[in-house]
Amino acid sequence: LYVDHPLGDGQTVPLDRDQAHYLFGVMRQQEGADVALFNGRDGEWLAQVTQAGKRGGELTCVRQTRPLQMPPDLWLLFAPIKKARTDFIVEKAAEMGAAKIIPVQTEYTNSERIRQDRLQAHAVEAAEQCGGTYVPEVTDLQRLDRLLADWPSTRRLMFCDEAEAGAARALGAAPRGPWAILIGPEGGFSVTERAKLHGLPFAHVVSLGPRILRADTAAVAALTVWQQALGD
Ligand code: SAM
Repeated sequence: LYVDHPLGDGQTVPLDRDQAHYLFGVMRQQEGADVALFNGRDGEWLAQVTQAGKRGGELTCVRQTRPLQMPPDLWLLFAPIKKARTDFIVEKAAEMGAAKIIPVQTEYTNSERIRQDRLQAHAVEAAEQCGGTYVPEVTDLQRLDRLLADWPSTRRLMFCDEAEAGAARALGAAPRGPWAILIGPEGGFSVTERAKLHGLPFAHVVSLGPRILRADTAAVAALTVWQQALGD
């Protein structure tokens, strides 16, 4: 169970109504039951139910069962698409070990606003599903040109360029270290964006195969390509 609360020896953790409903209503846990907790910072902790109620409850941490396992220093930058598919991209990025997920506004991104809190909740849920101890941060929508303007000098960018579909553009013997993956919107990248991205010293242009993939498919394909080439 994910809790947004410090975890430590003897630490008591209050449960809100939803968490109480899930633990005591859905999962039928009672006082004294063992519960595995994580908060994305302190690893996984074994806790026991010390108070069980309809409107809330309390757990008490017993001992740490797993240390925090930080994912590789990988960001996923993606242009938001339709809501359900944007949710999908965030969930898959969380499952596949992205450390940070940055929705980016590109020239052809459809202007629909994203709900950062909702996307963050999807990342938490995905981390819970796959038994992770880390939850990637999902940022608010950021403009791609601004991000690139003050790009961290040590971070390399895997630029998935649909115009390179079919070209022999593998990631190859790329160096380890901080990376980011960039996936464009349904309308792809503009000519200006593409020319700029190709010119960036830290950018590695990559093809994801002969066909042009939907953005959500491309995100999973790119995460897999990166994982195979550089994941530790
Ligand atoms: N107009 C197409 C479309 O609407 O499906 C192209 C955009 S494509 C869906 C969205 C993004 O996926 C692209 O901007 C690119 O980042 C990535 N992508 C899709 N196929 C790719 C490929 N074969 N090679 C590299 N990147 C690809």
